[in-house]
Amino acid sequence: SKAKLFDEKTDTRTSFKDVAGLEGAKEEVEEIVSFLKNPDKYTSLGGKIPKGALLVGPPGTGKTLLAKAVAGEAKVPFFSLSGSDFVEMFVGVGASRVRDLFKQAKDKSPSIIFIDEIDAIGRARGKNNFTGSNDERENTLNQLLTEMDGFGTNTNVIVLAATNRADVLDKALMRAGRFDRQIYVDLPDVRERKEIFEVHLKPIKTAETLDVDFLAKQTPGFSGADIANVCNEAALIAARKERKAVTKQDFLDAVDRIVGGLEKKNKIITAREKKTIAFHE
Ligand code: ATP
Repeated sequence: SKAKLFDEKTDTRTSFKDVAGLEGAKEEVEEIVSFLKNPDKYTSLGGKIPKGALLVGPPGTGKTLLAKAVAGEAKVPFFSLSGSDFVEMFVGVGASRVRDLFKQAKDKSPSIIFIDEIDAIGRARGKNNFTGSNDERENTLNQLLTEMDGFGTNTNVIVLAATNRADVLDKALMRAGRFDRQIYVDLPDVRERKEIFEVHLKPIKTAETLDVDFLAKQTPGFSGADIANVCNEAALIAARKERKAVTKQDFLDAVDRIVGGLEKKNKIITAREKKTIAFHE
């Protein structure tokens, strides 16, 4: 039944309202929503609907959220997998997972396939990456390319993939008829951070009228995911202190805690990079 088609995995659908900021990216994906809703309108003059688009940007900036919102707005099912799931798979498993995923999506088309961290499978071939079996990664990548090439013009499945390293991807992925569109999803500026705060403050019981501009100014470099984290953390801090509502101070304490976490993460990454450089030398 139709109703069933629409509640694939999520029962509460994500919409563009859930995605704050990212005006440019939203505009570009709106076209994809339109392709999914009215494919005939676009193919009537002989045009071909794009098969895939790459969402490129730093971690936590809303790439997954945006892909879910595309499916939500178009009211089509959302099928997803993460590239990192394939890193430690046995030979043959990755390719068959990709084949199954595409089969399911085609059976339920129009639909969206979302591949998170595509760089884990889509890194340029022939370059060793020190993780997992390279053969298996190549098999998985080849299967992905085969599936995308195998789509007919009226399959009406659109594949969105996310990465924060577009530069390391195999050029074959970006060829015409595959991921030939790139959509940039950047870290939010101060105005966008305010909008993201507003989305994530909605479910929070706040004590006073919060100065959201102030919070946005206190969080340079924060991603949408970091801001969501701040709001959640502030609510937990306030609850721990037996407060009836969350105060400005709770938010500032949450910001400090997240900054601490970010600094720690950066230290680990820097140490890891140093190790990789040493390894190459
Ligand atoms: P990664 O590259 O780490 O997979 P991502 O870019 O896919 O990250 P999401 O998983 O979409 O990021 O973001 C994580 C969460 O952060 C979202 O579920 C949402 O709660 C919040 N978030 C991120 N960006 C935004 C945004 N622009 N507007 C509202 N919320 C956001």
